Amino acid sequence: MTGQTAPAQPGAQISVEVPAKINPHLGVGDARADGFHALSTVYQAISLHDTVTAERRSEDGGEPGIEITISGEGAGTLPTDEANLAHKAAKLIALYAGIEPDVKLHLNKRIPVAGGLAGGSADAAGTLIACARLWEVEIGDAELHRLAAGLGSDVPFCLKGGTAIGRGRGEELTPVKAKGTWHWVVATTDTQISTPDCYKEVDRLREDGIGRYSSDVDPIVKAFERGATADDMARLLINDMEAAAVSLRPQLASLMHGGLEEGALAAHVSGSGPTVLFLATDVKHAVALARRIRMRGGAKSVHLAHGPVDGPAA
Ligand code: ATP
Repeated sequence: MTGQTAPAQPGAQISVEVPAKINPHLGVGDARADGFHALSTVYQAISLHDTVTAERRSEDGGEPGIEITISGEGAGTLPTDEANLAHKAAKLIALYAGIEPDVKLHLNKRIPVAGGLAGGSADAAGTLIACARLWEVEIGDAELHRLAAGLGSDVPFCLKGGTAIGRGRGEELTPVKAKGTWHWVVATTDTQISTPDCYKEVDRLREDGIGRYSSDVDPIVKAFERGATADDMARLLINDMEAAAVSLRPQLASLMHGGLEEGALAAHVSGSGPTVLFLATDVKHAVALARRIRMRGGAKSVHLAHGPVDGPAA
């Protein structure tokens, strides 16, 4: 596979850190014939990571197969069977290689679950890389990308990291050379929003004439390329799913207003929510803002993050 593949020694453990993604621009078009919505998005990887660790299951006398254990935030709420995206990823790359899967996967989750931060997709991307290395699978970038796209729209970006434009259903990526670092306060909430439910709500609101497709990513792409200030960036953030997320979880509105009152430059729903991202001027401002948002209450957890960061295959 990609340049960094090192053959796994017997007994080896392969660990891959995979960042969460945010969408500073998320333009959602109409539903296509295949049921997916056309997207014009800008992805950015941020410094909240899951870690995927892989070792051969048969090494300590177990039967080959796929076994998953999970630790960290929200671990108890996640499936460890075929429903886990990491399981699907391991099965897919074994199928590609024409081998029986033989892996114990451990997912250490720091990316909040079902928060619009692509935690499941990050684990799938990390699993593709870890299993390819563990099983010494010869696979090129294009094939890896194809397998990733089959697992989910956000998985190809999770392989790459950095900043990228996503079109199609998000899987057609064009890298963006971002000049700078932007600082965020990431506030999770104690509710979840399923991505399909959020798309349905976007469609429902559009039938009522609410919301439109923000297809033009140029302004924010140029801002990333020239290293725009956080103040400038604050005016360019767009999320066509935000109204739908707030309609499904009205408590998000007060969380967003609260953060703005505490001095955030912008409040931005992450993907399909319900995580809210607050843009800060710099790291010092982010630390102070996070403290004030925590003290105010209303968020389940509050994290500091910056982006862009490199992806696992960088
Ligand atoms: P989406 O990728 O649909 O936008 P999201 O980013 O909002 O999702 P995820 O953390 O990926 O949120 O979780 C979405 C759902 O995917 C969860 O409710 C969970 O049941 C399922 N899921 C399957 N595998 C995983 C995994 N490894 N980590 C997190 N969620 C997973």
